[in-house]
Amino acid sequence: MVTIIGGGIAGSALAGALARGGREVTLFEEREAGPGGGAFLFIDDRGHHALASLGVDQAAVEAGSYAVTGGLGYANNLGRSGRVNGRGHRFWMRRNLMGILNDFVAESGAKTNYGEAITEISIDDGGCTVHRGDSTTRVEELLVGADGIDSVVRAALEPERRPVYAGDVVLYGMTGGPVTLPSDPATLHFFAEIDSEGGSVSTLGHIWRPGDDAALWFVRIPRPPLEADTDDLGMRPIGEWAETIRAATPSNRPLVDTFLEMTEAVHVSNARDVPLENAAQPGDSVLLVGDADHAITPAAGVGARDALEDVHAVCDALMAGDSPGDAMGQRRRKINADRELVRGRNAR
Ligand SMILES: Cc1cc2nc3c(=O)[nH]c(=O)nc-3n(C[C@H](O)[C@H](O)[C@H](O)COP(=O)(O)OP(=O)(O)OC[C@H]3O[C@@H](n4cnc5c(N)ncnc54)[C@H](O)[C@@H]3O)c2cc1C
Repeated sequence: MVTIIGGGIAGSALAGALARGGREVTLFEEREAGPGGGAFLFIDDRGHHALASLGVDQAAVEAGSYAVTGGLGYANNLGRSGRVNGRGHRFWMRRNLMGILNDFVAESGAKTNYGEAITEISIDDGGCTVHRGDSTTRVEELLVGADGIDSVVRAALEPERRPVYAGDVVLYGMTGGPVTLPSDPATLHFFAEIDSEGGSVSTLGHIWRPGDDAALWFVRIPRPPLEADTDDLGMRPIGEWAETIRAATPSNRPLVDTFLEMTEAVHVSNARDVPLENAAQPGDSVLLVGDADHAITPAAGVGARDALEDVHAVCDALMAGDSPGDAMGQRRRKINADRELVRGRNAR
């Protein structure tokens, strides 16, 4: 029996794929069943390859997302601009992806426990126990922590490996209706606002298509973290943030004013990373996948892709009778190498 904590992107994909392969799986997810809300995502061809390999319905993937055919456009207030082709990027509303993954699990035979928050994991020499308040479940074979950035599994396994602020407050918005913009459609646009000393003031991003119900936009603002009880403030009325957003995006007044006028609420959070340096070697009785293991700021735009690739690797190992811990060890080496490459590119 494989016990999975967290039925987000990674946990749902893993539960569905393993159960379809004939493995016994139990999934615990603290949210109620259903696709939920959340922001929007861009996933590249590697993430889609993982979804296809896991057996996720490709017709549903095509219908639930769209190709970013215009590629990625970059500009800044110093007059630089350019465009690169995406790497098979598709645009997803998170709720569409979760709807497909929820169906994938529901039809797989996995035992699902929605609305069940795991409060603690205790690990001993013989294995581990999952606690839900006063009730406990002993894990028979493997426990997978797919419970996101504030993972209770990681807290038990590696209590010192905690999320750290990544330097930006991120705001995600969605217009309340269709909008026609002067920018190219089906293109992920980035605009960097740079101050006179070369420092970053903000990054504004957006995407739209004619006839779509909404345009999607985000602003990343480098600044000290929000001082709140939580790093994720959730949806906040636009009025609370409009002046901050305007002040951070002076070169894009008309565009930003359109977004502000047509958006009722923004999702506000501190961007955070879960450091991989000094991470303990993944084991074969308890391991972490996705954000629980290596969350990275939304600015990187690869967290969901990486989570799906973890699941693909761990699933393949389990189905072949190989070590899932070794598979995650290899994944971490790949993730570190990818990040090193991006750091090198950004430094040029
Ligand atoms: C604003 C924003 C924009 C992003 N944009 C992109 C993008 O463009 N491209 C990209 O690739 N990535 C993006 N990401 C990152 C991506 O969303 C994550 O990397 C991805 O969701 C990780 O999947 P996961 O399954 O590991 O974690 P999650 O999707 O966070 O799932 C974790 C699940 O565990 C559940 N859970 C948590 N604790 C418990 C508990 N104690 N008991 C039971 N269940 C629990 C949660 O309810 C949740 O359903 C973005 C992230 C954010 C926040």
